[in-house]
Amino acid sequence: MEIIKDLGRLKEVVGQVRAAGQTIGLVPTMGYLHQGHLTLMREARKRCDLVVVSIFVNPLQFGVGEDFEEYPRDLTRDAELAGGVPVDIIFAPPVAALYPKGYNTFVEVEGITESLCGCSRPGHFRGVTTVVNKLFNLVEPHVAYFGQKDAQQVVVIKRMVEDLNMNLEIVTVPIVREADGLAMSSRNVYLSPEEREAALVLSRSLTTAGELIDRGERDARKVRETMVAMIEGEPLATIDYVEIVDLANLQPIDRLTGPVLIALAVRIGKTRLLDNKMVGVNNV
Ligand code: AMP
Repeated sequence: MEIIKDLGRLKEVVGQVRAAGQTIGLVPTMGYLHQGHLTLMREARKRCDLVVVSIFVNPLQFGVGEDFEEYPRDLTRDAELAGGVPVDIIFAPPVAALYPKGYNTFVEVEGITESLCGCSRPGHFRGVTTVVNKLFNLVEPHVAYFGQKDAQQVVVIKRMVEDLNMNLEIVTVPIVREADGLAMSSRNVYLSPEEREAALVLSRSLTTAGELIDRGERDARKVRETMVAMIEGEPLATIDYVEIVDLANLQPIDRLTGPVLIALAVRIGKTRLLDNKMVGVNNV
C-alpha cells in the first residue's frame, strides 16, 4: 500500500493502471476510519483492480463554527486499518494541494441540497460535490463507493453524476452499526459515556418508526410525531430535524404510499449525529 500526498504521483499511478486496462475503485472519506469505512473498502476490493481510499477533511464542506479544526485525524492508525483490507493507495493530499491560492471553482446541485442537512448546514453540499468532483477527476475511478449513512449525500452525488454525464458507477453500501444499534461515525469519538448511551435514541426512534409502519400506520405526521416525542424524552438530545421524505426529491410527504426515507439529525450534547432508514411501503 502506498500513501500518496502528491497530485502528480497520483496521476502517474492512475495513468499506468488505466493504460493497463484495469479498473479503479474510489472510497472517499474524511479519515479516522471505522468499520463503516472498511466495509466500503471491502466492497471496492471485491470488484476493482486498484482500490484508492481518499482521506481528506474537506474545509469547504464545514460551516463557520463547525468542527473542522477538532475533526479527529490519525493517518498512522488509518493506514493500518486500510492496509488490513487491503487497499492499494491512500490518497491524503494537504488542503493547499486541492485548494491552492486563487482557487475559484465550485460545483452545486440545486433543489435536493436545500432540505434536511442542507437547511442546517448551508453550503455543506456545495463543498461535498466540489471535492468529490475533484477526487473523481484526480483518481478517475470506474466505481465510487458511498455509505447509506449519509443518505442525502448519496442522492446528491448520484444526481451530479447523472446531470454532468460523469463516466462512473456509484455504489451505495448499507449503514454499518455498533452491536447496540448506534450508526458508526468518526464523530462518535466526541461522545462521553453518558452521551454514548443517550445517542441510542436515534436508532431506537427509527426502529419504532419501522414498527409503526409495519403495523399499518400510513400517516407520516403520526410516525414523525412518535419519533420526535421519543427523542425529546432524552434530556441530552436536541433535534436538528426528523423528516419523512420522498426518496426521489427528498421532500416531506404526508401519506406513506411508496418507498420513503426517514432521516434525522440530532445533537447529543454538542455532537451532531445522523441516522436514517429506508422503508418500502406498499400502496394501501
Ligand atoms: P466520512 O469519512 O464520514 O465522510 O464517510 C466516508 C464515507 O463512509 C461516506 O460515504 C459515508 O457515508 C460512509 N460511512 C460513514 N459511516 C458509515 C457507516 N456507519 N456505515 C456505512 N457507511 C458509512
